[in-house]
Amino acid sequence: MERRFQGKTAIVTGAGNGIGLATARRLQAEGAEVLSVDWNTDYLANVADPTLTIDLADDDAPARVVEAARTHFKTVDMLVNNAGVAGPKALAESDDELIDHVMGINIRAVMRLTRDMLPHITRPDGCIVNVCSVFGEVGFPNTAAYAASKGALSQLTRQLASDLSADGIRVNGVAPGVINTPIVAERIASDAWYRRAMIETTPIRRVGTPEDVAGGILFLCSNDAQFITGHILNIDGGWLAARVAS
Ligand code: ADP
Repeated sequence: MERRFQGKTAIVTGAGNGIGLATARRLQAEGAEVLSVDWNTDYLANVADPTLTIDLADDDAPARVVEAARTHFKTVDMLVNNAGVAGPKALAESDDELIDHVMGINIRAVMRLTRDMLPHITRPDGCIVNVCSVFGEVGFPNTAAYAASKGALSQLTRQLASDLSADGIRVNGVAPGVINTPIVAERIASDAWYRRAMIETTPIRRVGTPEDVAGGILFLCSNDAQFITGHILNIDGGWLAARVAS
């Protein structure tokens, strides 16, 4: 295993499960110290210390994450904004609670945390990676709030890249396609329409893994990506490319 991140520090949100867990583990395996943040304490038992249990949508969450980061690290080399929730509903079926919940975690909490972390991110050579989504890039049925939140996150990524380059902070995103989680596996098994829309139209005919996405996140954090900022890397087995072509 390469050790590209020896001596580096990272914060990974949503680090207890799925993409966040794979990212935290991989960063640690490559030498980084990682502060793993999640609202699910049971999930955090899967990952090495230090950890912080917190609901990132809480008003005091940014201050508490900053405090924990300052306790453990001098500065933060990498901030991976991964925590997120799904909201598989058309707008007509999305009540205020669902809209506030999805937007609150997927975009508002990311903006507040990133803003408050900025003074503590290493400059030059700090980086931020946002976990966006293919559903933030193109239209897809029945996922209004989620798609809106992830589209906003993609645009925040580009916007921050413009603002922060002068400080030597790179800001990129990944756009995962269908990634193998229990919820997705259940939907693939039970919903023929979804299977057709997502798997049978993916040129690389399989579901992605959290490790597939972690690999892209680590690349964007690495020295090999020194001239890359404001980029959204699709990690989707070609799903978006094939939609553009068809
Ligand atoms: P993915 O496929 O993106 O990995 P998961 O649902 O498995 O999807 O992972 C998202 C992670 O984010 C979970 O570990 C979840 O507990 C975490 N998370 C979601 N919302 C919040 C929140 N408000 N505060 C902290 N962690 C959160």
